[in-house]
This record gives sequence, C-alpha cells and structure tokens, in this order.
Amino acid sequence: MHAQAPITQDVLTLPRRTSEGPLNLVGLTRAGLKEALLAADTPQKQVNMRVNQVWQWIYEKGVREFDLMTNLAKPYRATLKEHLVIEVPEVITKQVSDDGTRKYLMRVDGGHEVETVYIPEEDRGTLCISSQVGCTLTCSFCHTGTQRLVRNLTASEIVGQILVVRDDLGEWPIPGAPRRETRLLSNIVLMGMGEPLYNFENVRDAMKIAMDPAGISLSRRRITLSTSGVVPEIAKTAEEIGCLLAVSFHATTDEVRDRLVPINKKWNIQALLEALRVYPKLSNSERITFEYVMLKDVNDTDADARRLIKLIQGIPVKINLIPFNEWPGAPYQRSDWKRIKAFADIIYKAGYASPIRTPRGEDIMAACGQLKSASEKIRKSAQKVQRSGVSEA
Ligand code: SAH
Ligand code: SF4
Repeated sequence: MHAQAPITQDVLTLPRRTSEGPLNLVGLTRAGLKEALLAADTPQKQVNMRVNQVWQWIYEKGVREFDLMTNLAKPYRATLKEHLVIEVPEVITKQVSDDGTRKYLMRVDGGHEVETVYIPEEDRGTLCISSQVGCTLTCSFCHTGTQRLVRNLTASEIVGQILVVRDDLGEWPIPGAPRRETRLLSNIVLMGMGEPLYNFENVRDAMKIAMDPAGISLSRRRITLSTSGVVPEIAKTAEEIGCLLAVSFHATTDEVRDRLVPINKKWNIQALLEALRVYPKLSNSERITFEYVMLKDVNDTDADARRLIKLIQGIPVKINLIPFNEWPGAPYQRSDWKRIKAFADIIYKAGYASPIRTPRGEDIMAACGQLKSASEKIRKSAQKVQRSGVSEA
C-alpha cells in the first residue's frame, strides 16, 4: 500500500491564462468571453451579439479557426486572430478496447498528461472526464491516488476533453445534414483522474459551458459528478452546478473508510451523510448514486450490506457496486462474483436499486481507478521501443 500523504487542497492552480501569449477562448464563461472580446477591440455596442456568434462557432459547430467564422467581417476576424486563440488539449495516444471503449491520453499545459475515457452503450455514450492531473487524495485502492504530481486542470482543459472527443467521434453538425437522433456523446461523468470538488470553480465553469443550450447543450441530469466526500463543497455543487451526484462511499464503518478513503478522517461517515441528505432537495434531483467498490474480505460481508442499508435510510439513493479493478501492485483483490451477487441481493431486497457496474475497457486499463498506470505503461514501453531502436507500428 502506498504511503498516505496528508490530505491537502494545496495544489498548483494555474491562472486562467496558462502561458504568455494570446488568450485561449475555450473554457471562458460567457462573461469571460465578453471581456476577452472587448479587450480584443470589439465595440461595446456589438459585444453581446459577438459573444453569441463566437460561442456558437466554438461549442455548437466545433470550429477552431477565426477564419471559418463566416458571419464575422474579415477585418474583425483578423483582429481576433491577433489577440486570441481557440485551443484544446493535444491527443497523444488513443486506444480502442474490444468493447468499443476509447481511452485518450491528452497533453495539457506544462507537459502534463491526463486520461479521458469514452464508453459507448446502446442508448447513450458516456464521457469520463478528468478534473486534475493525478489526485491529492490517496484512496488506497485507486491507482490515480498513487500519482505524485498533481495540478488542477483549468476550465479550458476540462471542456477541451469534451471538444476533442466530439472531434474524434465526428459529432459536429454537418451543414445541411439532418441532426442525429441520438447523441454519441450524451452523458458526462466526472469520474476520471482527480477529485472534482478540490477544483470546484474550474469544474463548475466547465460544466456550465457543457450545459449551455446554445452549445454542447447537455442537460444537468446527464452530468454526474463523483466525489470522495468533500463535505463543504457538496451543497455548493447543488446550488452552483445542479448536476447529479455520486459519492465514493465504499465502507460502512469509519474504521474501514478511514483506511480506504482517507478524506474520511476529515469528514466522517456521519458528516458526509448529513451533507448528502439535503443534496436532492437543493439540486432538485432524484437520487444520489452511492459507489461501493467490492474488495475481497475488506468491505464485502453481509453485515456490511445490512449496515449500508441502515446508513442510507431516508436518502434517495441508488447503490452502484463496482467490482474492484486491479492494477499492478494493488493491495486488494476483487470480491468473488458470488459474494458481489449476494451483497447486491441484500440491498435489492431492502428496496434499493443495486446495479453492478460492468467494468469497461479493462483490456486497455480504462476502467475506474486504473487511470495512471496505463499512461505510465505506455511511456515506459515507448521508451523501451526507442531504446531498442524499433519504431512503433
Ligand atoms: N475522485 C472522485 C472521482 C474519480 S474516481 C471520487 O473518488 O469519487 C471514480 C470512481 O472509481 C470512484 O468511486 C472511485 O472510488 C472508484 N475507483 C477508484 N479506484 C478503483 C478501482 N481500482 N476499482 C474500482 N473502482 C475504483
Ligand atoms: Fe482521488 Fe477519487 Fe482516486 Fe480517491 S478514488 S484517490 S479521490 S481519484
């Protein structure tokens, strides 16, 4: 098991303007975009209209070049080009699983790397987004938590993940063609690398952009934010984002939860449950998803299932059982299938939905909690390939 670092929110947060040079418009709120356009010599009288136009080009049409914004006069496009850019993270590698799951390794400012996973299903396509490079928390079953280097992603880098994947899926409207009935990218889960509530403002701004009806236009009910339990930010999530909430619960006693999810030492099960109790009302949403990773002989007994039912009384929940996804050197094992079924059964009989999450993209290490090892592995094998002088196929 890796050493438990102190719980801290003290990570490097980049200013919105990430490097010297032109300002990137991706990730600016409407107010921020207005400011940027004014600073780029847009007349005050026109600015609201220009915000709408540029917003639509970027988020509804997927355009990244001012020259393609044909409803803007040519000299105005040239001025914008002088001051501003529209940039998204660079895709370094893309892997596609046998089950269709796609995992992208993207490079963000400073040469850091994050992973984004796209999971196609029959009736939906879910994008699992990262909110930080690594994670300051050190949940003992999660590989991301073993990554030392951590920084918050900017709103631009968070929204950028959506734009990049829509590029890859070819999901921007083609002029004149009828709109597709079902969206390829229809849902977002903030379940990639990082603790989203330790990067609240950037996550909020990025999700507001994803929800804006004149652009990506995802309903707040199609966005799920997963937190390990940053209690003070939970009410704020309801009020300022209003999306669905998932919580990494994982244990039914403080003693075990302290070991699995060390943030529990700061906000224990009782404090967490109090915050969760008010969430549905505050956010006007139906149910909270309780995530529960099934770890053999650690948290998977019948007694655990019964304690869990007692704890959640009065909170509208769905319990999502996650078979543990192993990673090299992991200190736990996945509970046996029979055990997981028996646990699910107890919960179901008590009247709660208890789906077992099918691991997706396991062959490319894209499943929950595996993000990190994959990029390290890729880098290591790339180095090996370079060293032996063999080029990659
Ligand atoms: N930091 C946030 C969101 C990212 S993790 C959080 O902790 O909620 C997304 C989900 O995957 C969480 O429920 C997390 O506890 C779970 N997870 C982490 N490592 C896992 C692993 N190895 N196997 C299965 N689930 C894991
Ligand atoms: Fe961070 Fe979530 Fe992994 Fe815990 S489970 S280390 S909070 S990413």
